[in-house]
Amino acid sequence: MKILVINTGSSSLKYQLIDTMNEAVLAKGNCDRIGIENSFIKHTKMGSDAVVIEKDMANHKVAIQQVLNVLTDKDIGVISNMSEIAAVGHRVVHGGERFHDSVIIDDEVMKALRECIELAPLHNPPNIIGIEACKEVMPNTPMVAVFDTAFHQTMPKHAYLYALPYEIYEKYGVRKYGFHGTSHKYVANRAAEILGKSIEDLNIITCHLGNGASICAVRKGKSVETSMGFTPLAGLAMGTRCGTIDPAVISYLMDKEKMSVKDINDYLNKKSGVLGISGVSSDFRDIEAAADEGNERASLAIEIFCYRVKKYIGEYAAVMDGVDLLIFTAGIGENNPLVRKKVLSGMDYMGIDVDWEKNEVKGKELDISAPGSKVKTMVIPTNEELAIARETLKLLK
Ligand code: AMP
Repeated sequence: MKILVINTGSSSLKYQLIDTMNEAVLAKGNCDRIGIENSFIKHTKMGSDAVVIEKDMANHKVAIQQVLNVLTDKDIGVISNMSEIAAVGHRVVHGGERFHDSVIIDDEVMKALRECIELAPLHNPPNIIGIEACKEVMPNTPMVAVFDTAFHQTMPKHAYLYALPYEIYEKYGVRKYGFHGTSHKYVANRAAEILGKSIEDLNIITCHLGNGASICAVRKGKSVETSMGFTPLAGLAMGTRCGTIDPAVISYLMDKEKMSVKDINDYLNKKSGVLGISGVSSDFRDIEAAADEGNERASLAIEIFCYRVKKYIGEYAAVMDGVDLLIFTAGIGENNPLVRKKVLSGMDYMGIDVDWEKNEVKGKELDISAPGSKVKTMVIPTNEELAIARETLKLLK
């Protein structure tokens, strides 16, 4: 069975066509600058070079049509007919409290998704536009929504409630939701599978360290705590997001710098994090290069990032009364031995012993623990698209 996985942003649309028989990616690509001038689609048929096609894409419907065109193209395509696509799996950022799991999309689900816009005004609207565009172009193909928040719906109330007046939770749904759930769930299950253990028997801490970054405490396969919050701004210092700060800083800055609500949101979401500290870049490769050349603020940005990861690991070990397995994933977690070394050094008192040679691994599944380490540490590349395809298949069955 072939499943199309779609991840829509405000001006972009990423896709993968996955054959569920062997979980192989048949083709993948992205449409960029949708609704803007000079839009293009970059498409790769696996085993061939990527092709870039410049094509006016005024909206997401045109983009989806374009994706179907390249997938069915006789030279660069991988299927002969759109009807070969059994279902479409959509990444949806926010499912609120309503969605604890993936769902088949029907009119009622669409209504509920629209109700979640208030909780994720930046993320959910493009996801919904992507689904609507797909429904128009492929009206008879089943669609599934897979939520970033769903995995964290198992957090206990004492973990997800903020110490604000309770009415605020009842009135507006202000609470911790957590994000990156598809990734945390995927790597936790994958690591357990590699170790040949039941996930039910493990306390796992998953560190999804990318441009957006979050950590999750997974007990018996269920999320019990995570570092992102009401929005993806909380927790770790990220590429451009500040992570957790004293909330009083917000009113102080708004007053001092005469910032509006939009200004302060942009400031904390787009100008902070390791970009704000280093003044160099949001990308760890640039920051590391600058630090190597003696840029002190770049070094400081790396220190702050790693320090917070380390703090959360200690916190989540406490939350679960111990930890059996630590997992590093996403761009930085998979590819940055320096970050992992800074985080993991000096944690032997917790039973975390790392083989520093193995720690040099990049982008590959590997157990990097030293022999006899009480706690296992693994690098597991995330694969959110495959996870979405699996969820979609599960629901179709
Ligand atoms: P993500 O959001 O998961 O794509 O991660 C982006 C971050 O991962 C950036 O800070 C990159 O510097 C880092 N990253 C991604 N790929 C690599 C790589 N191959 N080597 C080193 N760092 C990488």
